[in-house]
Amino acid sequence: VQQTLSIIKPNAVAKNAIGAICERFEKAGLRIVAARMSHLTREQATAFYAVHQGKPFFDELVGFMTSGPVLAMALEGEDAIALNREIMGATNPAQAAPGTIRADFADSFTENAVHGSDAPDTAATEIAFFFPEGVCP
Ligand code: ATP
Ligand code: MG
Repeated sequence: VQQTLSIIKPNAVAKNAIGAICERFEKAGLRIVAARMSHLTREQATAFYAVHQGKPFFDELVGFMTSGPVLAMALEGEDAIALNREIMGATNPAQAAPGTIRADFADSFTENAVHGSDAPDTAATEIAFFFPEGVCP
């Protein structure tokens, strides 16, 4: 089994969609093995998205990710990284397939409702970022 980091972003938390989104994960067979609400500081959001520093959307992304609380979760399951990205849908919600989380809960390219790790190495780094004490065994 594999683990991935999911973040329910501030726009989805603000519209009370935590339950609906977690239900999608659970129905897809992903198990929530860690969860934490947090309101990121600019320093934390900048560190988390360091790979995007210098890109034209970076300041807007950090502003958005610090605009309200998020729910970070470690999700576990068979092929969890790819499965999570499949049910999230495309980054740009205009291109997200019908029935995906972003198709249903995104408000814009930046405010696209969820984050999901993109590879095993980033999943490990991102899970450690939010859960330095580790996840449930
Ligand atoms: P995430 O990393 O949040 O799971 P992703 O891997 O699908 O999303 P990335 O390319 O890693 O997409 O971009 C990180 C985030 O930055 C996106 O989820 C989105 O919120 C924002 N973003 C990316 N590209 C753009 C863009 N062209 N315009 C506006 N916002 C963008
Ligand atoms: Mg990404």
